[in-house]
Amino acid sequence: LEPAFQFMIRVRLPGGVCTPSQWLMLDELARRHGGETLRVTTRQTFQFHWVLKGSLRPIIQGLHEALLDTVAACGDDSRGVMCTVDPRSSTLHAEVASLAKQVSDHVIPKTRAYHEIWYGTQRIASSAPEEPFYGPTYLPRKFKIGFALPPSNDIDVFSQDLGLIAIADDNGLEGFNVVIGGGMGRTDKDPSTYPRLASLIGFVPAENLMACVEAVMGVQRDYGNRKNRQHARFKYTIDNKGIDWVREEIERRMGMSFAKARAFEFTSNGDPYGWQKSPDGLFHRTVYIENGRLNLRALDVFREIAQSHSGSFRLTPNQNIIISGVQENQRKKLDSIILKQLGPDQPSALRQNAMACVALPTCGLAMAESERYLPELLDKVEAILAANNLANVPITFRMTGCPNGCSRPYLAEIALTGRAPGKYNLYLGGGFHGQRLNRLVAENIGEEAILNILSAHIESYARERETNEHFGDFLVRTGKIENAANTGTSK
Ligand code: SF4
Repeated sequence: LEPAFQFMIRVRLPGGVCTPSQWLMLDELARRHGGETLRVTTRQTFQFHWVLKGSLRPIIQGLHEALLDTVAACGDDSRGVMCTVDPRSSTLHAEVASLAKQVSDHVIPKTRAYHEIWYGTQRIASSAPEEPFYGPTYLPRKFKIGFALPPSNDIDVFSQDLGLIAIADDNGLEGFNVVIGGGMGRTDKDPSTYPRLASLIGFVPAENLMACVEAVMGVQRDYGNRKNRQHARFKYTIDNKGIDWVREEIERRMGMSFAKARAFEFTSNGDPYGWQKSPDGLFHRTVYIENGRLNLRALDVFREIAQSHSGSFRLTPNQNIIISGVQENQRKKLDSIILKQLGPDQPSALRQNAMACVALPTCGLAMAESERYLPELLDKVEAILAANNLANVPITFRMTGCPNGCSRPYLAEIALTGRAPGKYNLYLGGGFHGQRLNRLVAENIGEEAILNILSAHIESYARERETNEHFGDFLVRTGKIENAANTGTSK
């Protein structure tokens, strides 16, 4: 007899796109083996929770039947590749999403061990260790890649180890501005660890994308810290070696220099809500999913939609779902399914820009509540905003159950990271579209102190803000929060 070991399974879903038939398989597996729930993550994929050991193989084999897998969804390798989901630029989005998928396929481990263990594939001589890129030791730590399509910075490109900002002209995609060394994680009580915004190092034409990805990852593979896991992410390699040295080493490996970075502008890191129409005449509807948690009722809704939908589903980096590629005559039917089961999904401006990591009870690293607590805290913050006539002003608000930063808290205008049950560190002053880190304002405080501090700042924001000024920008401009550089380190 052994304990009822319980697991989390994370799917690999580059760019967060899945088909209706894949959705139906995910739904069935969640109902049968995953506690009748699925979670949309902040990196555009699904997690199954509450999976008992005996259900691991049925889930992974079920995913395989739907042409899905969990390869490199965890581990010291390239994690799921993200891509902006904004549907308003259909052709360009399709091109960039396709490149995100190609990069994901290119950088995942090539070992056949996964197939042998989970699918029962027979081992053959050639399935011995054969990693052409990773070699026998893989990377020092996880490595995150994301593609952003301005003006949307929904993927928080400056939080990625390697961020690729698509640059296009009237003729289509030209290439990418390359940013390196972003990362959110820090270790509690260890000031030598820190969140870092990725640094912009130049522009690369689209045809050189794969060479660039390999060169960047190769530098981290060969020079990353393999002695101290707390300092093993790419951001520390860059800060130890210096950004100029790292850029030159990448250029040497690529066999070409980066061109001067092209101009670009981000305006938001949130999702477009309601119906959007793309140039190809199709429609796309974002459905708000609180903290990405799909309960049984939400599963019922999306199963009903998937049974007749001919487009795709796109998971957003803000943990929402876009029903994509809808014909005009299908819109009413979809709206009525959603309305009937979920009610009007019109989150407040604050909720539209809020997200929480899983934390308790299923994340083993959690020190405090996050997903289960954020909604009730937001009720109270919404009341403060309403009392100050700011109910319609969007503010980014993120919460985690530990300093690891899975919901990218250090970029939010307001952020709470868990320290102990009911206690959080409060950070303020991040950039509205993910361009600036926030600053620690108070440590280890409970709800009353959190609301008192927020109340005071929100009241002065209501009185003194400039037209269209975001909350984080206001706090920095008025000196209430020490400014953090828009790019670079924040030690
Ligand atoms: Fe778990 Fe911490 Fe990540 Fe939240 S931020 S999911 S508590 S590791």
